[in-house]
Amino acid sequence: MIVYRTKEELIRHLDDLRQKQKSIGLVPTMGALHDGHISLVSRSIEDNDSTLVSIFVNPTQFNDPSDLEKYPRTPEEDLILLREKGVDMVFMPPVNEMYPETDGRQFNLEGLDQVMEGASREGHFNGVAQIVSKLFQLVNPHRAYFGQKDFQQMVIIRHLVDQMAMKIDIVACPIIREKDGLAMSSRNIRLGRKERKTAPFIYQTLVEAAKKQAELSPSELKSWLSKRFEQQNLMELVYFEIVDDKTLKPIESWERDVNKVGCIAVILGGVRLLDNMIFN
Ligand code: AMP
Repeated sequence: MIVYRTKEELIRHLDDLRQKQKSIGLVPTMGALHDGHISLVSRSIEDNDSTLVSIFVNPTQFNDPSDLEKYPRTPEEDLILLREKGVDMVFMPPVNEMYPETDGRQFNLEGLDQVMEGASREGHFNGVAQIVSKLFQLVNPHRAYFGQKDFQQMVIIRHLVDQMAMKIDIVACPIIREKDGLAMSSRNIRLGRKERKTAPFIYQTLVEAAKKQAELSPSELKSWLSKRFEQQNLMELVYFEIVDDKTLKPIESWERDVNKVGCIAVILGGVRLLDNMIFN
């Protein structure tokens, strides 16, 4: 496994692979790796001749400096995991390698960035688009792997690839969960003991909500869910939206012939947790 810290070294190696007609899979991450990330890596290793994992805590997608500062970083452990897994290349650039100058690009994400996560995190998805577009242009992979855990991000990245007219296959990977149902996330290690014990409530509530689909309309289901969260004193519900999986527009009726996803964000002990579930 080769670890690259500069674009130049990485490009040289990638050019060589392309000359040999090797397919390249890219797994972009912010590190503090867990089994969710590793599932993306395994899928890429299966699908491609060569897999590149990037580890970069992207400052432009954090609108809260203290969130950026507190973001977990475990580079040594990450490299051990990736080596064990059989990854070929890791790209771990310092910030000035990705942003030698301020990136002033504003992406038109057609409103996909204004709802749910975008509504409470100003500029977050523009920052995601900045870093992902840089990585895509640099690596130009055959395939790139993203988790459905960050559902809105995945939809936005598909849109970005279309907008950039790049030929990259975006592979969506299922949510990996802890045994008690909590969606794995790098942020979970920031949960205190009491909060960690409460956290599975999020997934349990989504499962219950899916069962109620037959008796409640989407808006009734939303009210039912917010009432459940009102009884939880440790957790604050940021939003629960049932949306069309392509436009991210809220759906008013189950009859609509679109795929429906229930997306939730919760703050627990100061930690923002996301989850979602398909409602069909
Ligand atoms: P992050 O390091 O949090 O930016 O995540 C990197 C990639 O891993 C993103 O595509 C995430 O959606 C994906 N990912 C994070 N957690 C999970 C999970 N529990 N299951 C599947 N994919 C995940």
